[in-house]
Amino acid sequence: MTLKGKTALVTGSTSGIGLGIARVLAQAGADVVLNGFGDASAVVADLAQYGTRIGHHPADVSDPAQIAAMFAYASEQFAPVDILVNNAGIQHVAAVEAFPVERWDAIIAINLSSVFHGSRLALPGMRERNWGRIINIASVHGQVGSTGKAAYVAAKHGVIGLTKVVGLETATTQVTCNAICPGWVLTPLVQKQIDERVQTGTAPQQAREDLLAEKQPSLEFVTPQHLGELVLFLCSDAGSQVRGAAWNMDGGWLAQ
Ligand code: NAD
Repeated sequence: MTLKGKTALVTGSTSGIGLGIARVLAQAGADVVLNGFGDASAVVADLAQYGTRIGHHPADVSDPAQIAAMFAYASEQFAPVDILVNNAGIQHVAAVEAFPVERWDAIIAINLSSVFHGSRLALPGMRERNWGRIINIASVHGQVGSTGKAAYVAAKHGVIGLTKVVGLETATTQVTCNAICPGWVLTPLVQKQIDERVQTGTAPQQAREDLLAEKQPSLEFVTPQHLGELVLFLCSDAGSQVRGAAWNMDGGWLAQ
């Protein structure tokens, strides 16, 4: 399939899952607006190899005004957003009674509220053109809990609820909204959790294996490339009646 002529915006795409998804979308022919922290010039140059237009906007998605500025940039420099992948996310691990209030607020703003803001800004143009895809990168933690992840689990459950509402509100149009729920993916976000285990004396390889063995029956990491291919399916015509779904790609985590 081709996404030629479509403009995609992927939040949090300077590394990890977002970068993998942006790469698959660019390979499929979409113009892509990247977002995320750090020097993006190497990532922009890398994705430009596929021959589509690639840009970057550095919005901090915890700030609604910066999200609006990013959409204005996409419209003015590219075209109104046809495919929105709400992917940016952060993690913090601590028991509820020790959870820093500032971390709670940041996780809710970045992992949940930014999905609302992106959706409300993307929807008018999608409705006008009667085509659009909103794909929210939730998590298995949108469907089950784990200790120490109060804010993350609350935010991801919220993302799945919001996905259902937007999926219903657009049900009679050619705009769809779905969530993808990855299990463990070896990205900087998860490497940080592996490093914390290494600091307590576990060898790095063992720490990786332990992390998988506790939750993910396949004992293998999901990859950003696989998640990108699922995004591509949801963008296809065959995906047009998948609406308001929370689709697991989790090595069997939620089958237990
Ligand atoms: P990552 O840390 O590799 O990448 C996160 C990206 O978000 C980076 O580009 C970073 O710059 C950007 N970002 C962070 N805060 C931002 C902010 N305030 N504004 C704009 N950009 C910001 O993480 P990842 O593992 O690729 O996670 C991506 C998404 O996938 C997250 O929503 C995460 O919750 C979800 N997820 C990850 C896993 C996993 O195992 N890695 C599993 C399930 C869900």
